[in-house]
Amino acid sequence: MDLFEYQGKQYFARFGIPVSPGGIAETVDEAVAEADKAGYPVVVKAQVQVGGRGKAGGIKLAHDADEVRTHAGNILGMDIKGHRVERVWVEHASDIAEEYYASFTLDRAAKEHLLMLSAQGGVEIEEVAEKDPDAIVKLHIDPVDGLSEATAREAAVDAKIPDTALDGVAKILVQLYGCFTKGDCDLAEINPLILKPTGEVHALDAKVSLDNNAAFRHPEWEDYSKTEVLDERERLAKEKDLQYIGLDGSVGIIANGAGLAMSTLDVVNQVGGSAANFLDIGGGASADVMAAALDVINHDENVRSIFVNIFGGITRGEEVAKGIVEGLGRVELRAPIVIRLDGTNAEEGRQIILDAGIPASKLISKPTMLEAAREAVRIANGSEGGA
Ligand code: GDP
Ligand code: MN
Repeated sequence: MDLFEYQGKQYFARFGIPVSPGGIAETVDEAVAEADKAGYPVVVKAQVQVGGRGKAGGIKLAHDADEVRTHAGNILGMDIKGHRVERVWVEHASDIAEEYYASFTLDRAAKEHLLMLSAQGGVEIEEVAEKDPDAIVKLHIDPVDGLSEATAREAAVDAKIPDTALDGVAKILVQLYGCFTKGDCDLAEINPLILKPTGEVHALDAKVSLDNNAAFRHPEWEDYSKTEVLDERERLAKEKDLQYIGLDGSVGIIANGAGLAMSTLDVVNQVGGSAANFLDIGGGASADVMAAALDVINHDENVRSIFVNIFGGITRGEEVAKGIVEGLGRVELRAPIVIRLDGTNAEEGRQIILDAGIPASKLISKPTMLEAAREAVRIANGSEGGA
């Protein structure tokens, strides 16, 4: 789960990382009240989960209440790269001497944590990686050993961070690592990490992504789910209580049971296709759940075929079939369904589909999983799709 900047900064603060005093506002009046509290000058910052807010006009300096009014008025409701600004974060403005970059992530292949540090912050790190890759220091950290202040300082020296900032940067790196590990983050990034003219080092931005698998030990994360931003497909799936994960291939997948859904992804890959999603409708799925699943998949623009792979146990073939007929009646599907229906009441299910008289351009039935996968991939990769 990705956090907004203001949530990330509040999270940072719990681990001792210095951030500017500020507050969150949903209206212009609230923004002025927060600015009065934070002390002028302030920065008014659009809270959207996308980079480059500054360039898009979503970050403005304000010297007094009138300027806060103007800027908050402009920024609230603004659209930044398809994200609507619902809130602004208002914080006391900092004087900046230099801007650095620091982040921790998990390097799965190396089975270690990865620190990335650069004296060139404030711009997108991908840009630095492209133009001047040597300007980014990468340091692997064995999770058992952790990160000492001495090692963090060495990384800062390697990154050519000036002497005056070394102690401050090293201290924040250790704190940020604590946030990353104890706070169960997938990503903890500060860009820019600033050096003030007074010599203090300070987090001016926060990008935090939490590891959902650790939610069980963080009851406080519940608060974040209220503001969580889901894409249209995920929002719909959550609303309908479906186990759905969006991917970026072109074969939509519906299966009953997590194991079968994963095997379906594998077999689609094996025959040269790529899955648009993972969707498990679970055991005992009703016609309604099936119809909802089709609706969710239909919201995915990349989908060129929909592979429905059902091996009925407690899930019954005739319920699945009814759901498909209902789904087809409810929404105009963007892609044909390829179905493999086996197990409990599969025969009845096939009869229902036959009786409904659905044309072959909309639904194709195949007797085995492999044949169905081949057909779904053939359609998805076919000339009419071009995916
Ligand atoms: P992003 O571009 O969306 O990542 O937003 P950031 O929070 O990183 O801010 C972008 C830029 O705005 C920073 O790199 C700074 O140059 C500038 N900025 C943000 N906050 C302040 C501040 O308190 N004082 C000053 N002088 N500039 C700021
Ligand atoms: Mn930033």
